[in-house]
Order: sequence, then C-alpha cells, then structure tokens
Amino acid sequence: MTTPLNQAAQELEAIMATTPYIGGIQHTRGIERAVEGLDILQDLCHSLACLSGWWTDKATGERKTLEQVNVAEKLCLIHSEISEAMEGDRKKLMDDHLPHRQMIEVELADALIRILDLGGFLELDITSAAIEKLAYNQRRADHKLETRQLAGGKAY
Ligand SMILES: [Mg+2]
Repeated sequence: MTTPLNQAAQELEAIMATTPYIGGIQHTRGIERAVEGLDILQDLCHSLACLSGWWTDKATGERKTLEQVNVAEKLCLIHSEISEAMEGDRKKLMDDHLPHRQMIEVELADALIRILDLGGFLELDITSAAIEKLAYNQRRADHKLETRQLAGGKAY
C-alpha cells in the first residue's frame, strides 16, 4: 500500500538519485534512515524532557495532561530559541554553554529539541510530515528558481 509518506519518500529518493550533491553535501544515506534517525531523536528529546520533569505537574508529581499544557507557551519557547539564534548570528557570537560552537548552531539545536519534545508530547509524526512536506515543496512552482526569478516571484 502506498501511503503519503511512502510516495513522498519515493519522490525524494528519485530527486536525490539524480542529484547526489546538493550544496556540497552528499545525500546518499536514504530517506528511510533519515526518518529513523529523526524518530529516534524525537524519542530522545521527549524522553529526556520527561525525565527532567518538564512534563510533570509540580503539585501532584503526575504527568501533565493535554489540558494542563499551554501549547501556545511551548510554541513561544521554540520561537524564543530562533530569536536567540538570530541574535547570535547578528553578533557572530560563540555559545556560552558550548563555547566551541557558534551560538546560532546551538540555539537552532535548542529549537529542534523543543520542537521534537513538543511533537513527542502531542504524539505528532513530525518526521513523516517533514518528508511529505519536502516532497510537496519540490513540486511547488512558487519554489522553483525560474518562477522566483519572474516579476512577483518570492524574493526569499
Ligand atoms: Mg537556547
């Protein structure tokens, strides 16, 4: 049975088979491995956040229910990491917690960790959605360079 994820993965595999190098990065590891790796990372992010008590009601010690979680607040925290990344890039700063890494790199990692943690709590399949959206974006006319070069095309 062909699922939307399988179809998207096949489309992306076909594109990558004809273009093994994109932006100097070799893409030969396969969509399956990408999905598996991101699924594992989501489990890791959410499991560690649970262990640290971020999803525990401090008053009862019980796991928070969906009704107890302010999803908008969690989304704002993701946004705050992106803002920190922007500030790090603007000032070309190194990270203060991982001083061997650029601040933009670590703050984007923070954003990814928060996204995957929230996805874990909400039981979202972000990995499959990302693969399907990548394939969809490849089909979009407004994402093609030739279209973007036309009057009214997307500048960025
Ligand atoms: Mg941060």
